[in-house]
Amino acid sequence: MNQKSKKSKTNPVSLVNKQKPNPVTKQKRMTASFEIFNPATLTKIGELPLYTAEMVEEKILLAKQAQIIWSAKSLRERAKELILFRKFLANNKEEMISCICNETGKTKMDALLEVFTTLESIDYVANKGIKILASEKRSGGLMIQKKCYVNYHAHGVVGVISPWNYPLILSVTPIMNALMAGNTVVIKPSEVTPYTTLKALEFFQRAGLTNGILQVVTGKEIAGAALVNSPNTNMICFTGSTATGKIIAEACGKMLKPVVLELGGKDPMIVFKDADLRRAVRGALWGGFANAGQTCISVERVYVEKAIYNEFISLLKEEYGKIKQGSKEEFPSVGSMTLPRQVEIVESHYKDAKAKGAFFVAGGKRILAEKGLFHEPAIVIGVNHEMKIMSEETFGPEISVMEFNSEEEAIYLANNSEYGLSASIWTSDSTRAKSIAQKIQAGSICINDVVANYMISDLPFGGFKKSGLGRVHGKEGLRAYAQIQAVTINRWFWRFSDELWWFPYSKKIYSYVSRAVKFLFG
Ligand code: NAD
Repeated sequence: MNQKSKKSKTNPVSLVNKQKPNPVTKQKRMTASFEIFNPATLTKIGELPLYTAEMVEEKILLAKQAQIIWSAKSLRERAKELILFRKFLANNKEEMISCICNETGKTKMDALLEVFTTLESIDYVANKGIKILASEKRSGGLMIQKKCYVNYHAHGVVGVISPWNYPLILSVTPIMNALMAGNTVVIKPSEVTPYTTLKALEFFQRAGLTNGILQVVTGKEIAGAALVNSPNTNMICFTGSTATGKIIAEACGKMLKPVVLELGGKDPMIVFKDADLRRAVRGALWGGFANAGQTCISVERVYVEKAIYNEFISLLKEEYGKIKQGSKEEFPSVGSMTLPRQVEIVESHYKDAKAKGAFFVAGGKRILAEKGLFHEPAIVIGVNHEMKIMSEETFGPEISVMEFNSEEEAIYLANNSEYGLSASIWTSDSTRAKSIAQKIQAGSICINDVVANYMISDLPFGGFKKSGLGRVHGKEGLRAYAQIQAVTINRWFWRFSDELWWFPYSKKIYSYVSRAVKFLFG
């Protein structure tokens, strides 16, 4: 665990001392732990403490102390430290990839893509962040006597709660954004994949970043809820399921605590008859099966224009034959799933779909069960929106394909979901694609591609409807970690001691302002 944090616990001026833990309870609570497994081999990786609310609070107070020093640093100084981490991660990427694969069961290529996207995001935050978070001039409008600008202040301590499907990027990206804006961070990674975040903390220390700015707590709901409910966290960034997101939103709402929620999805892909079919088919397979389909923006619903439906399905089968699944030593395209609960959800969706008349063109079976959580990627047809597989988040290696007759029907079907995270439109007519994009209720749209939006750091990412609140990435995402302060100051030529609208009011001034209003806006 964090050696530096341990040191600061003994600091006599530490805020932690206000709540000195009783050594007896401390010893007792440290015994509670949880186990972590490698899902591709079903072997135990280790055991970590289940943090109690009290233990979480101690880490928050350490982060609060560190924030005083960290927020006093200039944007350039902060950026320099972020770059130190970026370089360290890039130079030690195989160590991180091995840690990610070990606890997620994903392929090495999927883990490398995660590292790549994380590095690109850090680079953006560190380099562009200097300008995005610097004081910014604004127009005074009609008040030409005023100079105006905006300052971006840190919130304080940011609590980050992350899921298991991309344990590096969904931990490190919010950490980097929060730090760049002058906050410090306490993160609770998923109980399924905590070691990747602990490895990131180790990299922080080995790369020489400022002590204490990142604190990690391990555990489950209790630790997460403690971060949310603490009076000493000033903002929450949560990535996870819509169900948990609602609980967190409610708690934050009661405390008026700013919160960013990145939640679930059920992404549609619309394929028109003039699309490059081979590319669309390969896009559907990668978008649906990469990371064993456990991606919030994975392709789950594929709508294909009737005229090309049969051709699309036969190309799907042909390309499907080229996909290999297996353990990481075999360098497969699809690895194992990550947790038994997710396998159960996927299987329950398959059962429901079959019972309602769906048909599996390929895959859908549990394989190598004695080895790990491997589930054959599946292509499902004969589906409709009454089935769970088309209405609830499946989050497994599966795509369901349905035909449509008209553009209006395709848009209706794509929007007929409680989610609105991402969508893709496939056609060779870019004018038509752009016009359809305007009608799709989703936070990001890829035209003739899938998932790519997420990998572009300048593009804001987040959901419509029940897919979330707020944005990550881009200047919108970075500024979410800052409190915005507007400042006005009189220009040098402003010599009047009073403004026109100050006391005392008079008929003369009223008539003057009244005429001005008519002249300017009437
Ligand atoms: P989850 O909601 O079960 O858990 C997410 C995190 O919240 C975990 O760390 C968990 O321990 C913690 N948690 C659980 N209950 C809590 C509570 N009451 N208070 C505070 N913290 C609590 O989600 P998951 O199964 O880990 O992740 C999968 C989900 O995440 C999917 O729905 C997926 O779509 C979504 N996701 C969204 C994005 C996005 O950017 N929109 C990205 C990745 C994953």
